[in-house]
Amino acid sequence: MQANIGLIGLAVMGQNLVLNMNDHGFKVAVFNRTTSTVDEFLAGPAKGTQVVGAHSLEEFVGLLQSPRIVMLMVKAGEVVDQYIDKLIPLLAPGDIIVDGGNSLFTDTNRRTQYLQEHSINYIGTGVSGGEEGARHGPSIMPGGNKAAWPTVKPIFQAISAQVDGQPCCEWVGDNGAGHYVKMVHNGIEYGDMQLICEAYQLLSEGLGLGADQLHEIFTEWNQGELSSYLIEITAAIFAYKDTDGQALVDKILDTAGQKGTGKWTGINALDLGIPLTLIGESVFARCLSAQKDERVKAAKILPKATKTTLTGDQQDLVDAIRDALYAAKIISYAQGFRLMREASKEYGLSLNYGEIALMWRGGCIIRSQFLNNIKQAYTANPELENLLLADFFVEAIKKSDAGWRKAVILGIESGIPTPAFASALAYYDGYRTERLPANLLQAQRDYFGAHTYERTDKPRGEFFHTDWTGQG
Ligand code: NAP
Repeated sequence: MQANIGLIGLAVMGQNLVLNMNDHGFKVAVFNRTTSTVDEFLAGPAKGTQVVGAHSLEEFVGLLQSPRIVMLMVKAGEVVDQYIDKLIPLLAPGDIIVDGGNSLFTDTNRRTQYLQEHSINYIGTGVSGGEEGARHGPSIMPGGNKAAWPTVKPIFQAISAQVDGQPCCEWVGDNGAGHYVKMVHNGIEYGDMQLICEAYQLLSEGLGLGADQLHEIFTEWNQGELSSYLIEITAAIFAYKDTDGQALVDKILDTAGQKGTGKWTGINALDLGIPLTLIGESVFARCLSAQKDERVKAAKILPKATKTTLTGDQQDLVDAIRDALYAAKIISYAQGFRLMREASKEYGLSLNYGEIALMWRGGCIIRSQFLNNIKQAYTANPELENLLLADFFVEAIKKSDAGWRKAVILGIESGIPTPAFASALAYYDGYRTERLPANLLQAQRDYFGAHTYERTDKPRGEFFHTDWTGQG
């Protein structure tokens, strides 16, 4: 029997996806550049399964049923192009290449077109959920050449996470749509993590709460509207003790790493001219955390805020911080979905926002109850301009508004940085402001650069220039 699908790239993601496919009854052929990994995999984790291995690409392609599906789970970048070029002469028209790595969506746009010229169908898919997701059900976000979808769909929908009987995998859109949506997903993940970290710092440094109390607070938060995988694992992290009985989290160096997908999301938002302030601040917060030596030096030179601890009823303050976390999270998703709306128009991706929210409900790092509310908002109005305008979110922000502002004030007064809480609030206040000070900005631009301006008392599209130095 020929294999239903072939997978190249037996690192952590590839191996786990193969085992997941095998569990669901699919026969998988595997290949890896370092061929000893194939042997080790077959003799180890894949022992006793129906997975078959190959030591050359020719042998690998020969193991596949037609139309062949070749999935790449390799390092993103040039390696994907190299494999594509090696595979083209070995494949036949109608065969399918799937890239499941974290590729940049513009690369996927290019590869989809390139392979179309060779009559090979291409899918670029986001796969989220890390090792655990890959093994037991990831969120899968495929896009590319839709002709390939019916062939790949039964496999991907079987191995993906399932929520309420629905697979967390649906066709996302054309060309690089799958990787675009995965990129925004990762950006939102940066935002969610940063928001939790800001709440943590306000609670721990501002209110002086220890890991055990934080564990309790996050466990409670996970029962309500904030319920999500990231809040759940945060609660568990606070409970984890080092060998000496102290909380391990307190001993971890405060410098954050990153692989670049948050940065890509921010860059794309700048390219498209869409405010994505919360994710941007989250990326920069990681960058600032990485400047550890400089911060240690600055901490000795620059004075602390005069008020160093938060005062007031402790439960009120905890509730305010929770409200800030929830409201800012709404802003982050509103900004992320607004960006996708622009990208869909700009790149012709035909994104379905409700389906995207459903796909993110399970298997991935940002999975949460909250995504149901987003799905409902887009079901009620698929053309919704901004999530902030949906009834549910209007009410949710109204309820959280006072606590959110209080938490930001507390941070400012006590010198605890809350870049994501505060920038989210600034965006919200800007978004709901009918008249911003950009009139003055236009006057400045016209003053020094004759860039012209429109007037409130004249029709839009009529431009004026003033000789600003001509008076007095
Ligand atoms: P990875 O470390 O990103 O890549 C390792 C794989 O790429 C190995 O099979 C390796 O082969 C192959 N490779 C690297 N350089 C190569 C080259 N020059 N020529 C041929 N093959 C080469 O593996 P991963 O962490 O499993 O991730 C796979 C993809 O999924 C990546 O795009 C990653 O960004 C994405 N992803 C990862 C996660 C995660 O949690 N790890 C989650 C979602 C998506 P050798 O064994 O021969 O070195």
